[in-house]
Amino acid sequence: MIDHVVSVSGGKDSTATYCLAVERGRPFRAVAADTGNEHPATYEAVNRLAERTGGPIVEWVKADFSDRIAGKRRYVDTVWRAQGVPVDIVERALGVLTPTGNPYLDLCLWKGRFPSRKGQFCTQELKVDPIDDQVTRPLLARSHRVISWQGVRAAESFERSLLPPFQRLAAHDDLPGRLYVYRPLLRVTSVADVFAIARRHGVPPNPLYTHGLKRVGCFPCINCSKAELALVDSVFPEQIDRLEEWERLVSDACKRGFSTFFNIVNDPVMEGRWLELERAGRPEEFSLAEFGVREMVEWAKTDRGGRQYPLFTREPSLACNQWGACE
Ligand code: SF4
Repeated sequence: MIDHVVSVSGGKDSTATYCLAVERGRPFRAVAADTGNEHPATYEAVNRLAERTGGPIVEWVKADFSDRIAGKRRYVDTVWRAQGVPVDIVERALGVLTPTGNPYLDLCLWKGRFPSRKGQFCTQELKVDPIDDQVTRPLLARSHRVISWQGVRAAESFERSLLPPFQRLAAHDDLPGRLYVYRPLLRVTSVADVFAIARRHGVPPNPLYTHGLKRVGCFPCINCSKAELALVDSVFPEQIDRLEEWERLVSDACKRGFSTFFNIVNDPVMEGRWLELERAGRPEEFSLAEFGVREMVEWAKTDRGGRQYPLFTREPSLACNQWGACE
């Protein structure tokens, strides 16, 4: 038996891919990974796809980090204490190490840090693995052949331009089924053409695009642009409030006492101050007020440039390239 599975994120490319699957006129399943870091408009865009197109209802999958947080609690309570970690740091960590039910936040509480460009574990843990564990692997275990439709375009990046339109993956050779990837949008070059595919099914663009956002995956993504961060703050300030709260919680779960949503090295001035504290051996002077998301937003509103990576890169990571999971 062959199962066609379309991954949906609420963005333009995966929406067009879903519409192309509808046009094919054969049954398929559509799945979306709920990261807990999406804008409400994205949930609505995904949830209304079926009624707008006549296609299947999108199934949501979600990562659960309850066990891993429970394991970390035990580790903190035993190993950290045995290592002589100060009691206040241990107690603070134990105070926040309880699952919240929000996958993104729970992942960061478990890890004791936010993902970064170099440690971009979010895509795998929040999107690729839940779809794999909850949808793909069970089908392969029943000897099905699974064709996973991915909404990636060659024009988006050099890495994506190297991907074939159809490919067999060997990643699940421990199971009797077979997994293939199909990329029907690969040769669609312009964004206008992508939106046109959705439009012929009566699907409007995710409203976040009308505010000028280029990508509508996580809101915001750790890789969002400087301009997008300023935009998020001006139009959706409550999202920055949420990230500030997340930084407080994740910092409490971190042995060194702090973790920021965005990478400090994005801002050369912040990075300079950070290095100064590190070299002087005064990490206790680090504060979220000085390095946290609120300060990053203030920088995003300035012309202060410096290096334009990694927060401000346009190039999706390898995992995103392969799966189109973080459009
Ligand atoms: S959209 Fe960005 S923050 Fe979200 S999972 Fe992908 S890389 Fe991570």
